[in-house]
Amino acid sequence: MSPDEGRDRNQSNGISRRDVLKAGAATGAAAAVVGLAATSASASGRGGGRDHDEPERIRLVNGRIHTMDPDNPVVSSVTIENGRFIQVGRKGNRGSGRDTTTINLKRRTVVPGIIDAHNHIVLVGNRPGHHVLVEHVFTLPDALEVYKDFAKGVPAGEWITTIGPISAQQFDENRLPTLQELDAALPDHPVYVHAAQGGSRTNSMGRAILETLDVEVEDDGAIPGGGGFGSGDAAITVQFLRATLLTPETRRRSARDALQYYTSLGITTHKDSSAFHEDEPAGGIATENIFTMHEPFIELDRNGELPARLRFDFGHYDGGLGIIFNPAAPPPDDIPTLRERLKNSFPFYGNDWLRTGGIGEHTGAGVPGLRAIAEARWRAEDHALSLGAADAHITNREVVHAEFDISDLRWILSHVPAFPADLADRFHAMGGGVLVGWGPLRTGTDVGPPYRDLFDHPIDVGWHSDGGDISMINPWLNLYTMTTGRNLQGDHILGDQTLSRHEALWLATAANKWFMNEDDIGSIEVGNHADLAVLNKDYFTVSDEQIRSIRSLLTIIGGRTAYDDLDNRRHTRPWH
Ligand SMILES: [Zn+2]
Repeated sequence: MSPDEGRDRNQSNGISRRDVLKAGAATGAAAAVVGLAATSASASGRGGGRDHDEPERIRLVNGRIHTMDPDNPVVSSVTIENGRFIQVGRKGNRGSGRDTTTINLKRRTVVPGIIDAHNHIVLVGNRPGHHVLVEHVFTLPDALEVYKDFAKGVPAGEWITTIGPISAQQFDENRLPTLQELDAALPDHPVYVHAAQGGSRTNSMGRAILETLDVEVEDDGAIPGGGGFGSGDAAITVQFLRATLLTPETRRRSARDALQYYTSLGITTHKDSSAFHEDEPAGGIATENIFTMHEPFIELDRNGELPARLRFDFGHYDGGLGIIFNPAAPPPDDIPTLRERLKNSFPFYGNDWLRTGGIGEHTGAGVPGLRAIAEARWRAEDHALSLGAADAHITNREVVHAEFDISDLRWILSHVPAFPADLADRFHAMGGGVLVGWGPLRTGTDVGPPYRDLFDHPIDVGWHSDGGDISMINPWLNLYTMTTGRNLQGDHILGDQTLSRHEALWLATAANKWFMNEDDIGSIEVGNHADLAVLNKDYFTVSDEQIRSIRSLLTIIGGRTAYDDLDNRRHTRPWH
């Protein structure tokens, strides 16, 4: 089989990367302008769930709609009915009667709903306090303005927090706000900020409370131990906030707000990749009770209030945490939690809004764990943080593959900072795929992943942010790094491994069909779920620096309006 045949064959929906390149070249062709005036522009409220009334038929006309369907790459109109696209083309159907809402896109750029194939949204949805997300601002004054605005809706004295997806690197100032700046923005609320990649801060009200716990707060509001996932006094702070603030109701609020926030950045589907487990209120920001943390999301789905699609994998650690960083380490004698999971749970079970997945992002027990997963015919995913780890993961899989054929189970390796062609060949031969991304906060030179080499290899490749505890989820920050080779401070970190804008977006949309095991999301085609984002600027033509501040003006998921700021008709503040 030639590489080209392999490449064509292994893509979902028959879409190959080569076709996508052709489609990208064709995007300059102007879409036909349809002279339809906007009529009623209001759309039904937020929310997923199965039992809602289906919205009326919606037509979007006069847009530059990038479908990620190589047979029909750029169109000007789509029609949506019963949650799916019923027309994708250059002329809007004359939707009949008053049941049709027509929205004039005024030539705006539209993309399929973004799919993040591995992040930690369930952690973000279980944060204590009134949790505010600030991934869309890039200066400290703008961030402080978000906090100030957010505080108007929070009773005085209650904690305001941002734990995980915030980073000093995202700000031009390359630091977190100080105690004095937080005091000025939030005089009436205690605040705790804990950044991915390190650093935590509080304000004076927060310090007064934390000092009763003997937590040390420095003059600028820094709390020792705020590096990484948190330790020392920062971990004590997180533990305290969890113990005193988390209830089923506040978890539901954080869960709903988190999914809602990312709809404003165009994400319509998340695959959560679990967390480290701890029964008691945990101090680490990557840690939760992995047996109960899904409950707020399940409850939202039950009430028809899930703002976006969520799939979740189950992480397991029967071999301890050491083996997840060194998969060549001796495996455990027994796999008590993994065995019960495989016996008592269901893979890919649920509905179009909420669904289980496989085991990941850690299988946690070397060959015995992988063997049990293969025998049960589940999907498995592990992360690889180095070349040695990737090699050992693949060697373990080859052992298991010789006993139980895994070639149709879509096993995944994620992160892969180093993944040369021989490893890609070996994993591809077992039907595996790799998730790349995880990039905008990284430092150094040629830190990988090797986007270009993997994109040109026949192995399946998709995009993941891994955001929530260790990185940012904002897809546009990730796409900025993938296409420019620069991290958020502007340093070149990818060498010659960058992708074109079209290639990068394809990884975050259509390519992720394979990684989600779903063929009817990720592209705008008749019959697919109607998931799309109308962007505030044209991703394909703006300057490199402008990519970072792309957001959605209108996000539709399954035909329902998840976020709407189009023409300022509705000043939705999803973080309220
Ligand atoms: Zn992860």
